[in-house]
Amino acid sequence: MRNGSGLGVKPSCAFCGRAHSRFPRFPIFQCEHCERPLLVVPSVKGVGEFLLLNMVDVAKVLMMPIVLGGTIAFFIGRIDAYDFARVVAFSLLVWGVIDVFDGTAGLKTGLDKDGRYVRNSLPAKQRSLIKTAFGIASCLVGGIGLLAMS
Ligand SMILES: [Zn+2]
Repeated sequence: MRNGSGLGVKPSCAFCGRAHSRFPRFPIFQCEHCERPLLVVPSVKGVGEFLLLNMVDVAKVLMMPIVLGGTIAFFIGRIDAYDFARVVAFSLLVWGVIDVFDGTAGLKTGLDKDGRYVRNSLPAKQRSLIKTAFGIASCLVGGIGLLAMS
């Protein structure tokens, strides 16, 4: 995606790959096709170049240091099992919310992404339904875990 002026630029979605009708006005916006939240960030390739990132993927990546840090801290003895269980419950809750958000967007739009491949119609809705169900289950387990330890 080039040129921040917005004139004649049609950025493509990081999730579904479809072109947008115009350059986004805000750094965070929703794809008009798949309804996933997208983040506009400047590219390192040059001034005036931008990247669109899928916020669902960004949130999952941001959770990795928390999970990895909690696991390492537990295994080297910096936190006890009780605190490690809190980290796991919190992670389950956040990942569950992300999956519910992604799954319900897929159910609504009929678009789902499996690695690099974008599915549509019935297979996408089936995967989105499964994703939503696992997300709800993850939210319940994480939420109950956090409540039980508070
Ligand atoms: Zn999209």
